[in-house]
Amino acid sequence: MTLDISIVPSAQPRSAAEVAEILADPGFGTHFTDHMFTVEWTPEKGWHDARITAYGPLTLDPATAVLHYAQETFEGMKAYRHADDSIWTFRPDANADRMKRSSHRLALPVLEPEDFVQAVDALVEVDQRWVPESGSEKSLYIRPFMIATEAFLGVRPSQHVTFMVIASPAGAYFKGGVKPLTLWLTEEYTRAGRGGMGAAKTGGNYASSLVAQQEAIGQGCDQVVFLDGAEGKYVEELGGMNMYFVFADGHIVTPETGTILEGITRSAIIELARKSGRTVEERKFSIDEWRDGVASGEIVEVFACGTAAVVTPVGTLKWAGGEVRGSAEPGDFTNEIRAALVDIQYGRTPDVFGWMHQVTKAE
Ligand SMILES: *Cc1c(COP(=O)(O)O)cnc(C)c1O
Repeated sequence: MTLDISIVPSAQPRSAAEVAEILADPGFGTHFTDHMFTVEWTPEKGWHDARITAYGPLTLDPATAVLHYAQETFEGMKAYRHADDSIWTFRPDANADRMKRSSHRLALPVLEPEDFVQAVDALVEVDQRWVPESGSEKSLYIRPFMIATEAFLGVRPSQHVTFMVIASPAGAYFKGGVKPLTLWLTEEYTRAGRGGMGAAKTGGNYASSLVAQQEAIGQGCDQVVFLDGAEGKYVEELGGMNMYFVFADGHIVTPETGTILEGITRSAIIELARKSGRTVEERKFSIDEWRDGVASGEIVEVFACGTAAVVTPVGTLKWAGGEVRGSAEPGDFTNEIRAALVDIQYGRTPDVFGWMHQVTKAE
């Protein structure tokens, strides 16, 4: 706790009735809470001027570096309300550590993990009435991000950086039940290469995935799956979710880290599965192994995972000229691991891993 955060409450907070109406059906990423957190960095002063103020637009010089050269990193996490009305986040230190690694890759300054967690806690506490009711699979989605805010068109790391946190209530990802995704295998686009930014959570990776995602939609699929950039042979991940393959003998495989984004959901699943006695392999996993394994019945379940959707079953994989059909229903392990994770997040099961971080006390 090293940030000295000033709090200037919003002069026009949303009424209780407006908040209730939004929380009844929040959707995803469209409504924002009353406040935002901001802290600035310069080489001379380090991180300074930490504040929570009314949520609102930024005024940026048109030459602001991030608008031209995309020097930015971000995070995605959630706050959950438990049955006793206390509010918790899930492994915020892991998000903080990842932002540190992402920022290093993007030549941005380090925000110490304890300061990151302090900033998130402070905003969630101020806007706690925006955390949806417990027992609903709704949550408050939290978006910390760091942007290069120096007004300068030369190409070098920005000498003025801004870190902010905003928050947005999120509905249950699957309304009307979990439905398996159909994936499109892109053979034209890749998301990362050796030495690239694949392991950093940065907007550029998303910008480069959009055209591939459009291709997937055009092919009647839900999401795109990327292969490695070097050989076009190994499964990497989706635009914003990691992948898992469940074998008939019980072991599970997830692509190894390096050029993929190291998901916190991915790593929690590794620990949960190992604890339940399963063998988890982190290794290269080829597209041939996927296709042939599903066809032969050796692979019995495929799923994707990430903070927003938690765990999403994958049904069919399509590519130019072919497809393999998986199950139209989520598999047993997919359902079990999803339930195990959300039960910890919503405090319905003991947190034996020490993953939950308490932000506010029980009422
Ligand atoms: C954020 C992200 C994920 C999922 O990470 P979680 O920490 O589990 O939310 C996976 N892939 C990409 C590309 C991402 O940006």
